[in-house]
Amino acid sequence: MSLIENIIRPDIRALAAYHVPDSTGFVKLDAMENPYTLPEDLRRELGCRLADVAMNRYPVPSYTALKAKICGRLGVPAGFDVVLGNGSDELISIISIACAKPGAKVLAPVPGFVMYAMSAQFAGLEFIGVPLKADFTLDKTAMLAAIARHKPAITYLAYPNNPTGTLFDAGDMAEILHAVGNAGIVIVDEAYQPFAQASFMSRLSEFGNLIVMRTVSKLGLAGIRLGYMAASSALLSEFDKVRPPYNINVLTQTAAEFLLEHTDILDAQAAALREERAKLVSALSALPGVEVFPSAANFLLIRVQTAGRNGSNVFAGLLERKVLIKNVGKMHALLENCLRVTVSTPEENKLFLDALAASLAS
Ligand SMILES: *Cc1c(COP(=O)(O)O)cnc(C)c1O
Repeated sequence: MSLIENIIRPDIRALAAYHVPDSTGFVKLDAMENPYTLPEDLRRELGCRLADVAMNRYPVPSYTALKAKICGRLGVPAGFDVVLGNGSDELISIISIACAKPGAKVLAPVPGFVMYAMSAQFAGLEFIGVPLKADFTLDKTAMLAAIARHKPAITYLAYPNNPTGTLFDAGDMAEILHAVGNAGIVIVDEAYQPFAQASFMSRLSEFGNLIVMRTVSKLGLAGIRLGYMAASSALLSEFDKVRPPYNINVLTQTAAEFLLEHTDILDAQAAALREERAKLVSALSALPGVEVFPSAANFLLIRVQTAGRNGSNVFAGLLERKVLIKNVGKMHALLENCLRVTVSTPEENKLFLDALAASLAS
């Protein structure tokens, strides 16, 4: 056997690496990034703050000031705490590791965020995917049956869901939280909360097994890598034992503390993107052969199917026209011929619409 066969787990060897396409020269609409930057005066002020950071020192791993600002400014109810992660991806990984008892299972609706299943696999947990209905709403009956059968230690509900954009019914979610009960935690992943304007954060005291997870990535700060999860201190202190002590670097910490003093700007950008989302929905709905699904996020899922044109060749046509979106058609049977596009500025949305119309016609 070779060195690699001797040491690397067979399930890891069988994996393809997470592929991030090179977007140089493209209109980049594949990753739900906020297209807007900060105003010039704020960028300068941030530069000054960053210049004063003691980069020779380790961070102070309690992150007390940043956590207090997050709790104070982002609606964490009194009496609840947060744990910070290097993006919410790291929080998902921390949760998986902490809950990886032998035989423990992870449950989530599919199609959903791929990291739930990947992180479960890395930690040696079995992943149970419960298909959504064809319109991408929750199949509550199937979810409750799967919970009764598998008793999952971890259940994920992305609110709204990626890659579909669906905002699940809050009543269904509450039933799921009750059904899981004391046997497991339910993570409500609110990565797109600024675009959904709906949240379970204020309901933390209602459900002892609820964790509300968020990130600043889709809000406009994907590059600084900062996620947080809110829950009771008793639960969070267990996850905090697994967290690498210096996981938030001093530059991220300083930038986040600064930006939390200017949430009005990020909120205004999110409001502009919500308006653009509505315009993009109307424009797309007017295109023959395009079906648009309702979205509470800063992206839209569309299905393209018309004479001779399908998801793959329309995606290829967009690439030829230097527009990069995401082809999710092979992710799950329910997503056949589906493409996911980030909502951007009026200019970039127009470039996308023109390229899409041309790709549908060719
Ligand atoms: C983008 C996304 C995340 C990941 O966020 P990071 O903080 O950038 O790691 C988490 N959950 C969902 C549903 C997402 O779409």
